[in-house]
Amino acid sequence: MTVDLPLVARGKVREVYDAGSDRLLLVASDRISAYDVVLPTPIPDKGRVLTQLSVWWFEQLTPVLSSFGASHHLVSASDVPAAVAGRSMLVRRLEMLPVECVARGYLSGGGTKEYERSGSIRDVVLPAGLVEGSQLPAPVFTPSTKAEIGEHDEPIDFPRVVSLVGAPRAEELRELTLALYRRGAEIARDAGIVLADTKFEFGVDASGGLVLGDEVLTPDSSRLWPADAWAPGSVQPSYDKQFVRDWLTSSGWDRVSEPPELPADVVAATRERYVTAYERLTGTPF
Ligand code: ATP
Ligand code: MG
Repeated sequence: MTVDLPLVARGKVREVYDAGSDRLLLVASDRISAYDVVLPTPIPDKGRVLTQLSVWWFEQLTPVLSSFGASHHLVSASDVPAAVAGRSMLVRRLEMLPVECVARGYLSGGGTKEYERSGSIRDVVLPAGLVEGSQLPAPVFTPSTKAEIGEHDEPIDFPRVVSLVGAPRAEELRELTLALYRRGAEIARDAGIVLADTKFEFGVDASGGLVLGDEVLTPDSSRLWPADAWAPGSVQPSYDKQFVRDWLTSSGWDRVSEPPELPADVVAATRERYVTAYERLTGTPF
């Protein structure tokens, strides 16, 4: 995979290239990360699924963005170097805001832990008796910091978002995140998928406009559950990395040392989940 452009950054999953003064090329690899560590075994086709799904979602979400006077960063998914066609997007270069904008409509993972400790998620007090997988009374905005490489994202409360980006932008981020989540969840629901939670990243363009960046509503940035199997009370079957996380846990990996290679059947089952998420959501074969 060669791209004849200057490399700007290499994330856990994606390479970012300089494609002109106000453009970037985002290339999604087949790398998979879990617990913020890149695993040694790639998942075939994962990069293409992430890119194609994001491209599809940007179009679906445009009306919501427009209603907030916002936009998305996608310029083209076809005007890209042949070597990375299908897995790359030409986007507007943004000044990224230092907040990961998470929306949760269901209790899971870190959200469940927070609830079990405090009966609330961030500043939102929740009813008693919720369990892993429960639907929340209303979606909640649970932002976190954008961690540096090797660090874990850290949950933050709303006042901290205000101190990072100012009150008007913080309000805008919260309302837009929740609106995008609600629309995404509605579309997913029609496709038989529960959008349990998701993370958006926003940036600001040269004229100060708010722009949805990064990837959107993919299995890497979201928890996606088959609706017909939804049964609160334990970890849900999912179209995301939960399968890999569960396998890693059962392998006895301590999350600190070198992660193990994934066996071929885990790779195949994970690929299948990514592809199925794409096909069910978009209604088109991969
Ligand atoms: P992970 O997603 O696993 O936390 P990462 O965030 O370190 O990994 P990647 O997602 O692999 O990195 O790489 C994408 C990088 O590009 C992110 O840092 C993201 O914030 C940034 N990015 C996305 N869209 C834009 C944009 N339009 N302009 C500038 N930076 C962007
Ligand atoms: Mg990322």
